[in-house]
Amino acid sequence: MFIDFNANPSSPELQGDICLVGSGVIGLALCSHLLAHTNLRLILLESGDLGGAPDDAAVPAELNTGDIDSGVADSRARGFGGSSQRWAGQALPFSANDLAPRPYLNGAGWPVRLGDLEPYYAMATRFLGLDERPFSADLWNEPALSGLFAPASPLGLNFSKYSPHPNLAPLWRQRIAASDRVICLTNAHATHLEVDADHQRVSGVAIRSRQGRPGRVRAQRVVLCAGGVENPRLLLASDQVHPRGLGNDHDLVGRYYQDHVGFYGAHLEPLDWRAFRHLFASFVQGRHKFVPKLQLTDAAQCSLQLLNVTGNLGVQLEETAPVLGLRRLYNNLRHGALGRHNLRDLKMLPKAPLESAKILYSHVVQGRIRIPRESRIFLIANAESEPLRDSRIQLASERDAYGLRRARIHWLVSDRTRVALDAYFAEVKRVLEGAGIARVHRNPMLAETNDDWKSRGYSLYHHMGGTRMASRPEDGVVNPDSRVFSLANLYVAGSSVFPTGSSSNPTFTALALSFRLAEHLAAASPTP
Ligand SMILES: Cc1cc2nc3c(=O)[nH]c(=O)nc-3n(C[C@H](O)[C@H](O)[C@H](O)COP(=O)(O)OP(=O)(O)OC[C@H]3O[C@@H](n4cnc5c(N)ncnc54)[C@H](O)[C@@H]3O)c2cc1C
Repeated sequence: MFIDFNANPSSPELQGDICLVGSGVIGLALCSHLLAHTNLRLILLESGDLGGAPDDAAVPAELNTGDIDSGVADSRARGFGGSSQRWAGQALPFSANDLAPRPYLNGAGWPVRLGDLEPYYAMATRFLGLDERPFSADLWNEPALSGLFAPASPLGLNFSKYSPHPNLAPLWRQRIAASDRVICLTNAHATHLEVDADHQRVSGVAIRSRQGRPGRVRAQRVVLCAGGVENPRLLLASDQVHPRGLGNDHDLVGRYYQDHVGFYGAHLEPLDWRAFRHLFASFVQGRHKFVPKLQLTDAAQCSLQLLNVTGNLGVQLEETAPVLGLRRLYNNLRHGALGRHNLRDLKMLPKAPLESAKILYSHVVQGRIRIPRESRIFLIANAESEPLRDSRIQLASERDAYGLRRARIHWLVSDRTRVALDAYFAEVKRVLEGAGIARVHRNPMLAETNDDWKSRGYSLYHHMGGTRMASRPEDGVVNPDSRVFSLANLYVAGSSVFPTGSSSNPTFTALALSFRLAEHLAAASPTP
């Protein structure tokens, strides 16, 4: 059931078995597993309402003091379903090297291996409704591309899968409304965590409504799933007993903050359109979409001591291009947001009958999204950023609409990201020009050893690392079970626990870790 804390006249003191702070992708995944596999009573705290309220606790531009703006000011959705209301739903697993110790990279090496995550990636696949074939499936199966990548090539071909229903709010609104084992308290902003007398356990979660009315939730176990910035912020804001906040005995909360750097690294000029489209055009099969990626292989990263980089096409077209109208229709359909505004998109089709026919032929007969010849085409990279101790989230003195200290984000990006991007685009040029597929015009900024390139880098809204996972409390905030080292009943879920960030979109792996945590929480509880 849902309770709106704004509309509730009394100050509730709710009690449950597990309190989940945040109803985004991760909070709902935990909720789904715990509802299906236990009899536990859940309390799901959501600081926004059932719609997508403006983010009252956003981090304004002036509180982004690092190398590249974190994008937090305009990216987050505060409301039931969290950022699933806005995200693209693109899923790509991490590789073995992403989780392995890398002698050339300080702070690399997760306390779990990729093999440990495999069963949980399968759960994440079902949760997001993704196509269930393995990521190794050869969707390209055509001689045109055979031999493009030699076995020892530093580049490999990969693809991401898109969820056919990225916005989780509509489905989960119904499920929670129908459940008598989960209370979702909306407009209930967790302000801090309270601890018991010997500081071993969290005894309650203090909440506040927009109007400033206080309340409290008590639960046997508490899981923070408030997002990559809010998880560390909430631990830092729980400074009533320990001045440095909770779980922060080793001054690690908020540190090693990372994001993926987006970078338009090359303009591509196709020479062989057939091979080019075959390599790069997105696939559509029924409700499923797949986007081809060129990725630095694990072997190349190790031998050249590089961070991870993946890239995919970015296509720029006139606003009136029919393919853009169809793309909007498709995305609005996936987000359950079709409306009158889409009539404008449909009206574009008859204005360019030949191009529209080609788009439909490509989509329906060939199962590929057409790349029109008049496009300006770029290869856009997602690059890993090095985990740096001074790259961090702290509390600023400025306060948000709830009267709480805002987060200050100091995201530092080292030169290793530029070096990896430069090596990546050099290899892309070698392969695509060598095969006569495209001419590659690289962005010259990447070859310069100054910091100018950072002005063109941007956040991909993948907020990671502020509560990193480790085997020892000296190295991280949570243990391999995602439990805060110093507290017996406090857990953290989401990309904030990543020690390093790969170049793959983070949510699929955050979901895998969260299903692993859900299984751990369920193991101590009765099955229904
Ligand atoms: C435009 C955009 C596109 C993206 N595309 C992709 C993509 O294609 N693939 C991918 O892997 N990732 C993508 N991401 C990132 C992805 O959205 C996040 O990784 C994912 O949403 C994280 O899930 P979460 O549940 O941890 O956090 P969120 O989805 O942010 O949910 C957190 C929830 O907690 C609530 N909350 C926060 N603080 C409190 C508090 N103190 N008390 C109570 N509630 C609180 C929030 O209101 C929110 O509902 C994208 C992000 C954006 C913005």
